[in-house]
Amino acid sequence: MLAISSLVSLLGAFALGLLVALLITLLIGPRGRWTTRATPEVVEALLARGASARQAGQLDEAIQHHTAALDVDEGHLGALFALAEDYQAAGQPAMVREHLRRILSRHPGEPRALTWLRDLTAAEGRWEEARGIQEQLLRRAATPEARMPEKALLAGIRYEAGKVAVAEGRTRDARRLFQEVIRDDPEFVPGYLGLGEVLQKLGKRREAVQVWAEGLQRTSALPLLRRLEQNEREAGHPGEMIQLALAALARVPDDPTLTFYLGQVYLDLSMLDEATEQFERLAALAPEIGTFHAYLGSLLERRGKLTEALVEYRQALKTRGAFDLPHRCGECGNRFPGWVDRCERCGRWNSIQPVTWALPPLAPPPPPHGGRQP
Ligand SMILES: [Zn+2]
Repeated sequence: MLAISSLVSLLGAFALGLLVALLITLLIGPRGRWTTRATPEVVEALLARGASARQAGQLDEAIQHHTAALDVDEGHLGALFALAEDYQAAGQPAMVREHLRRILSRHPGEPRALTWLRDLTAAEGRWEEARGIQEQLLRRAATPEARMPEKALLAGIRYEAGKVAVAEGRTRDARRLFQEVIRDDPEFVPGYLGLGEVLQKLGKRREAVQVWAEGLQRTSALPLLRRLEQNEREAGHPGEMIQLALAALARVPDDPTLTFYLGQVYLDLSMLDEATEQFERLAALAPEIGTFHAYLGSLLERRGKLTEALVEYRQALKTRGAFDLPHRCGECGNRFPGWVDRCERCGRWNSIQPVTWALPPLAPPPPPHGGRQP
């Protein structure tokens, strides 16, 4: 009898133990944290409350709800992004960055967090940091179509990091960065300009000229021609400008921009016949460019008084910035009075091209004897 009652109480204790174990398993999640079956619903409810608070402009409240959601489910991706958005709306970029970093430490390479962090660091001018992020984004791009825009962006970001390195006196870093830029994108005009400047700083004048000339050969871009021209002027060889312009034109014979440039070079060197010839060529190449007709007509008209005409036109070209052709962004169409390395409107690099048609007319030259200005 005693044995049977012992067995019954033993079985009872066993059943009780089983029940307790079952309860503990229900209460403690598989990762050992306190949770319940209701957790996802609780998090979703908190996220919804946070979102409507943010929409109502109550950012403190939104942050409270989203933080509570994160307390229930630590590392919840939606809650972390929601907090980053709250802090973004509150104008606290340091907190945005902290939450994006938290996302990336739990979900390495999370594309939205990486892209956001890249844009944030770029907007703050932290180009070196942005460069590391963009290199990750490029590695993650799977198809050639996806790689192309990431690569273009990396060129611009590296270029900016190079400019920062120049400003901070890290010329060797700058040199490496600019070299990487043109290695990966041989059409990237600002990269050649930057690399040449750095080489000059390092006392490598000949190498600098070589880089600009290589870039010019590759792109036929006006800013490189101008940079080489400046170099020849400084060296006291203005005649070399003609050779540079002729060589560039030989590669792109019907380029109106280069033709205009050569005409200006001749004009600048008092070679009026040659200048006239180039402006005549230009009138045939791009008859819609009114400004050049004006140059040409006046040049022809004044052939009898070459010296006076020359003085006046050189002055007019210089004072009105006519040596700078109007430019336009090939991406967004934004206009610029001259060449710039980056479009301030759409943020693209290397997208600014000269506008060689429908130029706004130059203002008429001032009256010769101190007449009233309009
Ligand atoms: Zn643009």
